[in-house]
Amino acid sequence: MDCLFCSIASKDIPSQLIYEDELVMAFRDINPQAPVHFLVVPKLHIHSLDQVNEAHDGLIAHIMRLIPSLASEQGIVNGYRVVNNCGSDGGQTVGHIHFHVLGGREMLWPPG
Ligand code: 5GP
Ligand code: ZN
Repeated sequence: MDCLFCSIASKDIPSQLIYEDELVMAFRDINPQAPVHFLVVPKLHIHSLDQVNEAHDGLIAHIMRLIPSLASEQGIVNGYRVVNNCGSDGGQTVGHIHFHVLGGREMLWPPG
């Protein structure tokens, strides 16, 4: 399957990896929107949040529990934003589920 984040997970496409284990990887966004901006991505290909089901409960919990420790490791001290863009109106441009973590500046609300 031709998927950008599967290709990054298999190392066919390089990335600035900050973390990897058997289930997930985290790497810097190529077009950062904040001083710290990385993506947490399951190695399993799941298109979007709409495709998540109970078989993924452990994986999703793992990602959510990992994010605070990665944010801290990356030097974020005053809080951060976790974003999942789902589908076209949600702004999803890569069809492999991923969670943005943005920090190092104050975030605006509501988002654009
Ligand atoms: P989405 O718009 O789907 O929520 O997020 C996709 C993100 O992937 C964007 O923030 C975009 O900058 C990032 N991105 C797109 N292509 C690449 C790439 O080849 N490498 C990395 N590291 N990030 C990418
Ligand atoms: Zn994929």
